[in-house]
Amino acid sequence: MNETQISPELIQKTIDFHGHSCPGLAIGIRAAEVALREVGRSSNEEVVAVVENDNCAVDAIQFLLSCTYGKGNLVHLDYGKLAFNFYRRSDGKAIRVIGRPNIFGHQDDEFMRLRKKMMKRSLTEEEKEQLKRATAARTRHIMEADLDELFEITPAQGPIPQKARILEGVICDSCGEQTMESRTRRFLGQTLCIPCFEAREKKI
Ligand SMILES: [Zn+2]
Ligand SMILES: [Zn+2]
Repeated sequence: MNETQISPELIQKTIDFHGHSCPGLAIGIRAAEVALREVGRSSNEEVVAVVENDNCAVDAIQFLLSCTYGKGNLVHLDYGKLAFNFYRRSDGKAIRVIGRPNIFGHQDDEFMRLRKKMMKRSLTEEEKEQLKRATAARTRHIMEADLDELFEITPAQGPIPQKARILEGVICDSCGEQTMESRTRRFLGQTLCIPCFEAREKKI
């Protein structure tokens, strides 16, 4: 089944949110599609996304699933893996969506050569156009491929993250700013926010 559930209008809005169209965002759109099929969308904090990377894909997860940092139902694990976990609180359903090694399509040596040259800022105008076309082809491949061809789906790893706790704020004894109590440190009888604590530590 590769018929997208996401309308062209919504895809365009996702691109506008992210700022450009790219293969990474396309991966996020398709991963969000898997999540919509398996656990649905989060109107409040019903669905939690635990993402194992911080690349372009995450913007599609935020926009399409309404999993956001502000609501606390988006958690980032800095593993650098193309994997996304989705949890549904109501019944505990939890999946991990992992990008297959060939998610970008067939190995394209020409693309890799151009990318390397781009890093060194030594592309000719013609090569710049070539790279643009090759990147667009990758994006198209991801948008059109079968979901099963792109991703492996397994049970999620780890338990469902706890709901965001709202803690009483306390006043930092050094800067006087209100700070979440769980983020304060005790230092020589004072209660300090993290930046003030770190500044004191450096002085010792
Ligand atoms: Zn991007
Ligand atoms: Zn402070």
